Amino acid sequence: MTQYVYRFGGGVSDGGAGDRNLLGGKGANLAEMASIGLPVPPGFTISTEMCTRYYQEGEHFPDSLRAEVANGLAHIEGITGKTFGNPADPLLVSVRSGARVSMPGMMDTVLNLGLNDETVEGLAATSGDARFAWDSYRRFIQMYSDVVLGLDHGSFEEALEIAKEDQGHFLDTDMNAADWQKLVGEYKRLVQEQWGKPFPQDVHDQLWGAIGAVFGSWQSERAKVYRRLNDIPGGWGTAVNVQAMVFGNMGETSATGVAFTRNPSTGERAYYGEFLINAQGEDVVAGIRTPQYLTRAAREAAGAKPASMEEAMPETFAELARVFELLETHYRDMQDIEFTVERGKLWMLQTRNGKRTAKAALKMAVDMAHEGLITEEQAVGRVDPAALDQLLHPTLDPDAPRDVLTKGLPASPGAASGAVVFDADTAEKRAELGDAVILVRVETSPEDIHGMHAAKGILTARGGMTSHAAVVARGMGRPCVSGAGTLAIDAKAKLFRVGDRTIREGETITIDGATGEVMAGEVATVQPELAGDFGTLMEWADKVRRLRVRTNAETPADCRTARGFGAEGIGLCRTEHMFFDAARITAVRQMILATDEKGRRAALAKLLPEQRGDFAEIFEIMAGLPVTIRLLDPPLHEFLPHEEAEFEEVARATGLGVEALKRRAAELHEFNPMLGHRGCRLGVTYPEIYEMQARAIFEAAVEVAEKTGEAPIPEVMVPLVATRRELELMKELIDRTAEAVFAEKGRRLDYLVGTMIELPRAALKAGEVAEVGAFFSFGTNDLTQTTLGVSRDDAGRFLTSYVDKGIFLRDPFVSLDVEGVGELIRIAAERGRATRPDLKLGICGEHGGDPASIAFCESVRLDYVSASPYRVPIARLAAAQAALRG
Ligand code: ADP
Ligand code: MG
Ligand code: MG
Repeated sequence: MTQYVYRFGGGVSDGGAGDRNLLGGKGANLAEMASIGLPVPPGFTISTEMCTRYYQEGEHFPDSLRAEVANGLAHIEGITGKTFGNPADPLLVSVRSGARVSMPGMMDTVLNLGLNDETVEGLAATSGDARFAWDSYRRFIQMYSDVVLGLDHGSFEEALEIAKEDQGHFLDTDMNAADWQKLVGEYKRLVQEQWGKPFPQDVHDQLWGAIGAVFGSWQSERAKVYRRLNDIPGGWGTAVNVQAMVFGNMGETSATGVAFTRNPSTGERAYYGEFLINAQGEDVVAGIRTPQYLTRAAREAAGAKPASMEEAMPETFAELARVFELLETHYRDMQDIEFTVERGKLWMLQTRNGKRTAKAALKMAVDMAHEGLITEEQAVGRVDPAALDQLLHPTLDPDAPRDVLTKGLPASPGAASGAVVFDADTAEKRAELGDAVILVRVETSPEDIHGMHAAKGILTARGGMTSHAAVVARGMGRPCVSGAGTLAIDAKAKLFRVGDRTIREGETITIDGATGEVMAGEVATVQPELAGDFGTLMEWADKVRRLRVRTNAETPADCRTARGFGAEGIGLCRTEHMFFDAARITAVRQMILATDEKGRRAALAKLLPEQRGDFAEIFEIMAGLPVTIRLLDPPLHEFLPHEEAEFEEVARATGLGVEALKRRAAELHEFNPMLGHRGCRLGVTYPEIYEMQARAIFEAAVEVAEKTGEAPIPEVMVPLVATRRELELMKELIDRTAEAVFAEKGRRLDYLVGTMIELPRAALKAGEVAEVGAFFSFGTNDLTQTTLGVSRDDAGRFLTSYVDKGIFLRDPFVSLDVEGVGELIRIAAERGRATRPDLKLGICGEHGGDPASIAFCESVRLDYVSASPYRVPIARLAAAQAALRG
């Protein structure tokens, strides 16, 4: 028969810290604390398996549980010497929820259970404190009515307020025994009135009611919402802990408190917490009275008067401090603790690994390794790579005042202030003049890249977390708030409205890409400090990781940032962003709109020196590291002119008429450009384009090798290949160009030609493709689109429902669809390596900076991941953790 009840306390522990799944976090740790000799009030845990069974059997308990619970109660009675329901010396218990992971405030707990009209007298007599007994009884009725009976919470609060007013009292602690007794009468009247029955006097009815309610709270609406937001499976269930009460409300030598063994916000090694004298349970966090500091140092730092626990109860505090040290050594991590002091005696009620900010996580990990509490490798595992994001960008000064206009999605972290501008050109112009600007658009498109780059931050009214604005901003490390739906943007009038406020071009706003807040005016920011702990942890991470980490970058500034963050090369340099440059776009348009090869070559000749300059600068910054350059990829129409003036400019440059140009532009229209004339299809039809780019690459490489003595390693990447033959044609072209340049310059260089794998066919036929290509880079943005048949730019409308309904666990554009897209990658890696054992394999989609996706890359043993510059440290840490797990 399955055992459902596990005892703890009084030298018995049926479970321990390893039984978290069965006993919930709270139950497992209570058992663990009891087994290492800490003072834990005795109790028992009803396992999460019972929760599952309870729901399977239509919210009904099996008979066998009654006997087990009776045994559990006997265990508590044996240790405390009190009896449940005994009017002379009653045992009181708490009935507490506790799931596998903590769900703060989501589920229910009932305290002081076992009180009724008779036992309250017994409690008064044995404690010698009638005030305390009646205070406990009124607390119990109030909590039980709320949690178990589901009565109107507000009416009980109200009755308490009226009672205090009647007596002329301000604080709960001013109330005496008679006052509380009177309130108990009033509470019982409220129960009768709202529930239609008297308050349950049978203590066993009380207990089973509470157990049912705690299991029931697992399916409450708020718990369900919390689980959805935190990816917690509904099948886990909660455990129920029944535990002897200890009382922090027994007068001036009693207290209750919460504490962290280190500062959870800064990571400092200093006890941190609050307590309240003569109070119970939730009083500390409920804000009924202002809690007092734990330590004297904290009280003095805050300039507070009321004595700290260290000062008010020095002996108990010393005992508590001893427990802190013991718990940290035992769990080897910072603990978040609940305790109660009953007449000078300390009792531990809960411990768990404490939540912390990224900054604190970093500091604690490094400190604990230095203290010898954990190893360097364990320290590497302690910091959530995604949380590093918070540390790498400037953040708003938490103490600065802010005037919040609206809130959008936190699309790219960091904070920025600047003058509002409504188009990319203005952003660029003002930035050149030295202004800080925030680019505000309904949504952004590839044409806005230069403006996004020039801006300090980006704000859009439409689009989600994976919209163009969000993806590009994250790539550039620009703070971005997307999808701020309440913004009414009138770009013509150069203003936006939000509520009854109007912000015009040139006015200053501040955006916080970590919270999504949009504020009027400037809010002071603080620069992150990256030295010290950050550097140390990164060093430890680099020691254990196998995957190399490169960056996706195409501007000199991004390349420098990435190298500063430790990038070991470039995994994706997109050449099209260079084409959008204002000084070049006319030549690009001239090339696209040319009707024959001769016309195209004339335009390409103008672009050649520009591209060569771009590549030379990047090669120099990357000083001898590999640089993967992707040949032109997007459909040509993305570069087309829209406005009359733009057509006229191209007409002047080409000598063709505006009408002829417009006709040619119309011819270039595509119904589905993502699957249209793009990628290597451009190179197949207009080889002169790729030829120019290859020439620019090799000329720049030779130039830099000669100038600096550090020969770059160009890796020329052909995009959107589906077949071996496409790559073969392109490789011939690239090799021929390389040979020509080497002959002209009288110097050879090593280089590779490879391909992006972003079409399922290429992945399946990887064995053949690898006969030609020396490397594969998995372009997982497009590979996800082409595998799922989902356009990233249109996915916003339905993706949330897909995640809600569990079709996808997470947005597949953020975290790799390991089952589907991952299988293609696995197949391509296997088949490619079978043909060419030294085939270089990497990933360059957005996923290259996502820790879960990086873990997958480690599992299929890719050679490197490539992430946007600000995600390079995240990738380094994630790669180290993946290696440690593997
Ligand atoms: P939560 O998970 O919401 O923190 P808990 O089960 O930990 O809920 O209980 C709520 C409050 O009641 C906490 O402050 C806890 O310390 C206190 N509490 C729980 N059980 C007891 C007990 N047996 N004696 C005294 N206080 C208790
Ligand atoms: Mg708790
Ligand atoms: Mg692509």
